[in-house]
Amino acid sequence: MLTKKQMEKFAELAVLVGANMQPKQEVVIRCDVQCADFAHLIAEKAYKFGAKRVHMQWLDEELARIELMKAKKSVLSKVPDYDKAINKYFIKHKVCLISISAGNPNIFKGCKADKLEARQLAILKSRKEIRNATMSNYLRWTIVSVPTPGWAKQVFPDVDPQVAVNKMWDAIGHIMRLDTPDPTAAWREHIDTLHRRADFLNSHNFEYIHMRNARGTDLKVGLATGHMWIAAEEEGQDGVPFTANMPTEEIFTAPHNRKINGTVVNALPLVNNGNVIDNFSITFKDGKVVDYKAEVGYDALKAILESDEGVLSLGEIALIGKNSPIAESGILFYNTLFDENASCHLAFGASYPTTVKDGNSLTTEELAERGMNSSIQHVDFMVGTKDIDIDGIGYDGKVVPLFRNGEWVI
Ligand code: ZN
Ligand code: ZN
Repeated sequence: MLTKKQMEKFAELAVLVGANMQPKQEVVIRCDVQCADFAHLIAEKAYKFGAKRVHMQWLDEELARIELMKAKKSVLSKVPDYDKAINKYFIKHKVCLISISAGNPNIFKGCKADKLEARQLAILKSRKEIRNATMSNYLRWTIVSVPTPGWAKQVFPDVDPQVAVNKMWDAIGHIMRLDTPDPTAAWREHIDTLHRRADFLNSHNFEYIHMRNARGTDLKVGLATGHMWIAAEEEGQDGVPFTANMPTEEIFTAPHNRKINGTVVNALPLVNNGNVIDNFSITFKDGKVVDYKAEVGYDALKAILESDEGVLSLGEIALIGKNSPIAESGILFYNTLFDENASCHLAFGASYPTTVKDGNSLTTEELAERGMNSSIQHVDFMVGTKDIDIDGIGYDGKVVPLFRNGEWVI
């Protein structure tokens, strides 16, 4: 368990390093009702550091499950208008967003796939504007996590529920560097290391990234023209830096959506929308999925890949060494925030406009021209195994080793 002081440090990290809230700014805390205690602590810290107003956007995964079981599909296919109106307010008032991600990965087990998909699509459509505002860094945002009983039980199924929650707190405390004497200083140092590697990658301006491992991955991912590798801290459109994911271990950029060829095999299960998809492989030709298989959760994978045209290409490639504290913990969290930071990953669907030079001032056509991908989806899946070798290939064909046996060599 964390001490009271460590909890306070954690909440401060979310406000100051994560969202980097500025004095007199409005803050939105978005989380499940089960995380109320930690949300209140964040609210308290936000006011302490000068927030003008703190909004709570409560989620309720149990209610969502009840709805999926009991409500009609036609009802689930529509999100009430007020949802758009609230998000419009948030954009207008340039809030910063702090989300607490703590979902039970199996909460929707037993719910009908078509209802789940209908609900998911309706939410994606309703939140399009606010998602654009966060993905383009118009609003600063961050995601942190705290354990909930349902989630902890999935991660540590063999122990008492309370013991499971405590084990989760210990793991998260270590990963968040809350067990160091000065967590803020530890984060600064970590962010600097990531930035040094991102600078190396940017200075080489690779045309392709080539990934290979014994599981069967042999994939060449072309990079968007004028791509930029981003790590840890990003810049909001107002010039204020922020850290979107806490924890974060990744260095990522945009693939070129017409230059991806080969096959990739997943390294960890993909948990999407309450479904687990595992032992799957995807084959690409000229940037598009042309074949896919899955031993577990084939229908769920199929549903993702049928959501629109853009989901058939990639919007992100991210590199993470196997010695990161999350990877070292050996824990499968069934939560993207942790698992995607434990392993190199790719994402089906939309790319971040911030991962290409001047991305936020380019038109949709100009972004497409550079190979940037658009979709209503952005679904990360893990591909980095302990034996993965990764090279950067320059426009002149020169090969630069980046990873050997799952770890950075630069
Ligand atoms: Zn990522
Ligand atoms: Zn992603």
